Amino acid sequence: MGKFRNVIAADAISEYSDYKPEVQGLGLFKRGVERWHADYSFRSAYEKDPAAALAAAGIGEIDPGDLDILLVSEKATQATAGEIPLPRICAEYRRFIKVKQKHAKQIRDASPSDDRYRRWRQRMVNSGVFSQGVAKFQKVVHAPFAIELCKGCTVNCWFCGVDAEQYDGYAPFDEENEKLWRGILRVFEKQMGRDFAEHGFCYWATEPFDNPDYEKFLDAFHDELGYLPQTTTAVPMRDPERTRQFLEFTKTRNSFVQRFSVTTRKDFERIHEYFDPEELLLVELIPQFENRASAKATAGRTRKLVLDRLDSGKKVPFEYDLESTGSIACVSGFLLNIPERYIRLITPCRATDQWPLGYRIIAQTTFESPDEVDAFVGDCIANRMPQSLEEGDPVGLLHPESTTLDVVDDTTLEIAGGGLRITMKGVDGAADFAERLRQGSDSLEQFVEARIDAGFDAMETLMVMNRIFRTGVLRDPDDWDQVRDRTVPLSITAIKA
Ligand code: SF4
Repeated sequence: MGKFRNVIAADAISEYSDYKPEVQGLGLFKRGVERWHADYSFRSAYEKDPAAALAAAGIGEIDPGDLDILLVSEKATQATAGEIPLPRICAEYRRFIKVKQKHAKQIRDASPSDDRYRRWRQRMVNSGVFSQGVAKFQKVVHAPFAIELCKGCTVNCWFCGVDAEQYDGYAPFDEENEKLWRGILRVFEKQMGRDFAEHGFCYWATEPFDNPDYEKFLDAFHDELGYLPQTTTAVPMRDPERTRQFLEFTKTRNSFVQRFSVTTRKDFERIHEYFDPEELLLVELIPQFENRASAKATAGRTRKLVLDRLDSGKKVPFEYDLESTGSIACVSGFLLNIPERYIRLITPCRATDQWPLGYRIIAQTTFESPDEVDAFVGDCIANRMPQSLEEGDPVGLLHPESTTLDVVDDTTLEIAGGGLRITMKGVDGAADFAERLRQGSDSLEQFVEARIDAGFDAMETLMVMNRIFRTGVLRDPDDWDQVRDRTVPLSITAIKA
């Protein structure tokens, strides 16, 4: 048998919210792919005897010849090239994956209606490449907001990337909270536009189903913004009938894919037993119980665990990276907690001592009314989303240890990091600029003065600096505390001249 593959290429594109499979049995076929991705003992059995392995897993109706086209590289390539026939079920599965990928891209490419927020968010999206690499960048949607409807979480996953607190109650969907909820959603619609605001979602360091009124909040969200936000639950089997009804409910609204975070192998089996394959067509199962299939970001509780084990000289039984930590944070916008009535402006970052949860808190306050949320959001957009560097702002690379500045010629500079290479043309004295940027400067003013002393034009220096700022490769003005605390180096990158 040939080499198996994890990435499934796709061809056709269609709209997501009205996606309907054009062949029967796609849910069952998806279950075969899902089983293969999550279950390594099934993989071994499948490699030896595909039909027997499928039958043993209770999905013997799947034709292994079809499944191979998704799982075996050579067959996939041959089918794509037309050298062997592409069965209809495989073509439909590819279309389905493409629609899902397009949906994620649409969220990432969506824009707030406010230009200041739009430019800031784009810079946060760009900086994600330098922080987390291109592959992860493609998965992070930089949603506009996340709203927690509980205080803490009951599930207590060992790997919790946002280190959720112990559960301590929920916000009921009573008259007061409904008024507040609808008011807040209208604020977001006003401040960032409906098309962007609809990509918010209603959990963070919380489990959606910990709130018995979760579905009511969601329905009001749909009412206000026209879209039912995605739900990820780690307890689909806590009350399977509720989950079933919830999935039915999502089909009656404008919605797309939901997700089950599957924390145990036992749950994986129970989910497959309880739900019909077609019921779960629009549900992604994330096999958290299998680290090989679902690598963990070294953020939050996972990072704590790694540090504790290293401190006590114990082995860490999974892959980790304390430098390029990854992050599960996916909001460049606002994080709210309804029971606690707080709101924060956040954006993803590598997990550090200062930001162990993999996101920066740029501003925060408490609120009692939608008007107060409105005032905070407006203030953040006006004052906490810098559009350019000011003269007193420090200048330096965000991740000097993994970013390189290559001088191509007298006026051309290349910035490379995270798998991305950006060419900056029209940089007078490119070698001088790169060297100064590599060293960093306590302020933009000092940087410009040094350039003037070296014979370069001040205005041109400022313009180049702000072009570079927009690429997301520089550390943000509000993010220098941890550097000053010497938890990360200012600048250590090498330059190739
Ligand atoms: S990962 Fe999700 S479900 Fe698990 S503890 Fe964290 S917030 Fe709760």
